[in-house]
This record gives sequence, structure tokens and C-alpha cells, in this order.
Amino acid sequence: MFSIRICTTAGCRRHAVERSDVCFGHVSDRTAYLEDLKSWMAPQRDFAGLSLGRQVWEGMDLRGRSFEGCNFMGCRWENVQLDGSSFRHCFLDFGVFKHCSFQKTSFLFCSVSGARMESCDWKGSDLLHVNFNALEAMETQFSESDLYFTRFIGAKLNQVDFIDCNLKKTQFTGSWLQDVNFKYSNYEEAEFDVAPGAPGVPS
Ligand SMILES: [Zn+2]
Repeated sequence: MFSIRICTTAGCRRHAVERSDVCFGHVSDRTAYLEDLKSWMAPQRDFAGLSLGRQVWEGMDLRGRSFEGCNFMGCRWENVQLDGSSFRHCFLDFGVFKHCSFQKTSFLFCSVSGARMESCDWKGSDLLHVNFNALEAMETQFSESDLYFTRFIGAKLNQVDFIDCNLKKTQFTGSWLQDVNFKYSNYEEAEFDVAPGAPGVPS
């Protein structure tokens, strides 16, 4: 698991980021920091215990990488490619994801709660025991994925596809579903105690 080091800037209580003594907000040259980080990550495939919270990642290619026990909380991800990557016990809570590709990824025991997601593609992924609670997602694709025991409690999903998914024990309790497609999925094995007046419960 990632180690918690506090930013050395006086009065700041945020977590220091990888390869630095300060939090991302106090990195003096964030562009240079990110370029250095990209070059450091490029030749490596397996990462463990990274602390990379609150960073802004645009156009990164992280396909086929493996992450274990890493902290990505509050990161902003835009046009990031993560196809075929693997995440174990990682924290991506309160992230903002736009136009990111997670096709054929493997997520196990990860937390992506309170995140916002727009035009992302998780097609063909294994998303087991993942916490997507309070997720706000639109125009996003989870089709052909295994979502066993994954939770979308209190989520707000608009134009989201779960076509041909395994939804055994998937929880949508208290969620708001608009134009959500569950075609060919075993939604009868999922839990749908949705918010009062909410549309979208499959019938
Ligand atoms: Zn700081």
C-alpha cells in the first residue's frame, strides 16, 4: 500500500506525491514534474505503492500497466489510455475521467467512489468488488464486463451501457438511472432499490 508522507510546505496537510516532498499543488513546476514522471513510468510495467493524488493527467499512455496499492485520489484523467491494465487495491476516488479508455482492464478491490466520468470505455473488463458509489457517469460503456459484487450505490448514470454483463450481486441501490441499457445482462441478479421517482429500473 502507498505510504503516507505529508507535504513539507508549512501548513499543508496534503499527501506528498511520488518522487517529491510536496503535494501536487505545491510542486513548483507541475509541467516539468509530469514530464519527468512520464519518462520515469514509460519503461516500467509494474507499479506498487505510488502516491499520485490530485494530479492532472492528459494524453498519457498507460496501456498494459499493473498498479498495486496506489493512490490516485482526486486525479483528473483526460484522454488517458489504460487498455489491458490491471489495478489491485487502488484508490481512484473523486477522480474526474474524460474520454479515457479502460478496455479489457482488470480492477479488483478498488475504489472509484465520488468520481465523475464522461465518455469513458470499460468494455470487456473484469471489475470485481469495485466501489463506484456516488459515481456520476454519462455516455460511458461497461458492456461485456464482469461486475460481480461491484457497487454503484447512490450513483447517477446517464446514457450508460451494461450490455451483456455479469451483474451478479452488483448493487445499484439508491442510484438514478437514465437511458441505461442492461440488454443481455443478468440484471435480475443485481440489486435495484433505486431512489424514489428515479427512472431506469429494468423490467
Ligand atoms: Zn502541499
